[in-house]
This record gives sequence, C-alpha cells and structure tokens, in this order.
Amino acid sequence: MRVLVVSDIHANLNALEAVLADAGSVDATWCLGDLLGYGPDPNECVERIRNLPNLTCLLGNHDAAFLGQIDVDTFNLEARQSLDWVKNRVSDDNMEYIQRLPEMTEVGQVTLVHGSPRNPIWEYILDPRTARRNLDHFQTPYCFVGHTHLPILYQFNPEMTVVTVISPEPDNSYQLTPRALLNPGSVGQPRDRDPRAAYGIYDTEKALWQPHRVTYDIAAVQTRIRLAGLPLKHAMRLAEGW
Ligand code: ZN
Repeated sequence: MRVLVVSDIHANLNALEAVLADAGSVDATWCLGDLLGYGPDPNECVERIRNLPNLTCLLGNHDAAFLGQIDVDTFNLEARQSLDWVKNRVSDDNMEYIQRLPEMTEVGQVTLVHGSPRNPIWEYILDPRTARRNLDHFQTPYCFVGHTHLPILYQFNPEMTVVTVISPEPDNSYQLTPRALLNPGSVGQPRDRDPRAAYGIYDTEKALWQPHRVTYDIAAVQTRIRLAGLPLKHAMRLAEGW
C-alpha cells in the first residue's frame, strides 16, 4: 500500500494542493494533525482533507486549542491571534469533524500521533533522547509524528540503545527497520529553512520511507494572509521556511 503522509497543513490550501498533486495516486492518506492555525484557508483545508479516500487524520494542538480543549496561554502571540481569527470562521460541520479526531491511533505497523506517544498533543520530539524515551509508549515497530515542522528520522538498533538521526534528503528512499520514529515535516509551514511543502510516501509492504518537497505559490497565500488581517509574520515566514 502506497500511503501519503502529511502533517501540519495549517490552513495553507496552496501547499496542500501542491502536495496532493505531486504525490499522485495513493492508496491511503495519513494526516498527523494541525489542520488549523496560521493560514488563511481553514475550511477549505479541512474539507479537502476529510474528503480524501482511506483517510486517517489525527488531532493536533492547534486543532485542540480551536476546540477550546487546551489553554491557549501557552501559544505565542501570533498563534493566539490566528486562533481568535479562526474561531468564527470554521463551519459547524467542519468543527464537528475536528471534534471527532483521535489523539493517537495505530494503522498496521505504524502508530500515528501529532506530538509524541507519551504526550500526544504537546510534546515536541526534537532530539534523540526524547525519541528514545518515547519508545516505551507505543507498541508498533514504527511511529510517525508531526508537531515540530522538521523532517527527521530516528532509526534505532535492535537493542534500542543506539539511535541514528537522519535528516532525510528529498526524493531518497529510506529502509525502515524496527524500530523507527519519523516526522514528514510540515505541509503548510516548514521550519527547516526550506520553504517548499514537505510530505512523505510510505510503502507499507517494504517499510520504505520517501520524503519529498514541492514548491507552491507562496505569494498567493501571503496575499490571502494579508487580506484576512492575519499576523504578517505568518506571511513572512512562509517565504523563508521558519
Ligand atoms: Zn503545527
């Protein structure tokens, strides 16, 4: 099965459409949360995602904050401003859809979660030590996470003691072996200084991971951010990938 893996779309429709077009035909799509926040197209992105066939979609921290499930005081000023903006703009139907999203799930050999297995909504896995500590919190050979907006692959040895940290090169193939934890990066707001939208293709039979990057019309999204009255910082950062 050829699976499209996306995360952190953040209401950026141009980036999402570019990813879907670039990925081509897939058997399933796994979305690791944060449909909302930052970007100008919340309803369009929720609808595009929820209508994909064989979709598994997780709840992210921005989605949870939108639902009022978590305290937004922990968000930075611009993130709070975009949450205020989105509150009255998401349709009831899309809101009900977001309310039904799980925090963590398993599909075959892979655990899917937005933040981390031990703290599904909030924890950032930014280093090998944190990745290692999360191994006890999922049972499957592999775990895919989002949240940091940084593509990364942590590959453990059979003793689970040594970890290899790989910054995946776009369009390369990586053979996963049990166990591994990876992040596809962000569709709608990359933070690794590469402004191209990030995603991955996962082959479930071969356990093969292929990271990809794709350009999209950033200027069009920046214009809609300005017209919407969203913080200009969100527009600036898209062009530079931070
Ligand atoms: Zn995010």
